Amino acid sequence: MSNISTQLEEIKKGIPGSCTLVAVSKTKPISDLQEAYDAGQRDFGENKVQEMSQKAQELPTDMRWHMIGHLQRNKVKYMASFVHLIHGVDSLKLLKEINKQAVKVDRTIRCLLQVHIASEETKFGFDENELMGLVADEEFNELSNIQVDGLMGMATFTDNTEQIRAEFKGLKALFEKLKETDHAKLKMQTLSMGMSGDYEIAIQEGSNMVRIGSAIFGERNY
Ligand SMILES: *Cc1c(COP(=O)(O)O)cnc(C)c1O
Repeated sequence: MSNISTQLEEIKKGIPGSCTLVAVSKTKPISDLQEAYDAGQRDFGENKVQEMSQKAQELPTDMRWHMIGHLQRNKVKYMASFVHLIHGVDSLKLLKEINKQAVKVDRTIRCLLQVHIASEETKFGFDENELMGLVADEEFNELSNIQVDGLMGMATFTDNTEQIRAEFKGLKALFEKLKETDHAKLKMQTLSMGMSGDYEIAIQEGSNMVRIGSAIFGERNY
C-alpha cells in the first residue's frame, strides 16, 4: 500500500464514524489527491481558490471541496458553482458576497463561521460578541442563499496541550450556546476543529470535522 493510503487508514482508526475527515491537500500534486481518492477519501481541503478550482477541474466530480483558508471577497465567484463548504467566514461583508455569488449560480452555499480562539493575533475570526452581533443583524437574516452549518476554529500553535484543550472547550461551548438560540439561519451541525497536531484533543472536546494535511500527505514545501 502507498504511504498516503496507509496514513489515511491509520488516522481514520482514531476518528469516530460521526466525525468527517477533511484531507487538507493544499500545495500537494494532483497525483496525491488521486491516491487519497482511490483509497476512498472524498472530502478535500484547500486554502487557495485558484489552486482548488484547477484541481477540481482535473479530478473526479464527486470530490467535495472545502475552502479552509482566509478568503478574499473577489475570489468567491471562482468557486461558487462547486464549493462544498466554506470554513473561514469571518465577516458579514464576506457572507454578503458569498450570498450574491450563490444567487447567481442558483445554489445555497454552506458556510462555517470562523471563531478566533487562539492567543495569536494573526489568526482570523469573530470573537463571541461579534458573533452574537452578527446573528442578531437583520442583514444576516436576509441572506437567502447561505446556510450556516456551524463553527470553525484553530487553536494556538503550542506544545501546551492544556491550553489547546481549553481553547477547543471554549469553541464547543459557543457552538452549544448558538445551537440553543434556535436561530432560523443557523443549522448548528458542524464543528470544524482539529489539525494534524491537535485533532485527538479536538475530538475529545466535541469536534465532528477535522482538517488534516501533513499527517496524511507529509510535510508541505512552500
Ligand atoms: C493547513 C491547514 C490545516 C492542516 O494543517 P496540518 O497541520 O497539515 O494538518 C488545517 N486547517 C487549516 C485552516 C489550514 O490552513
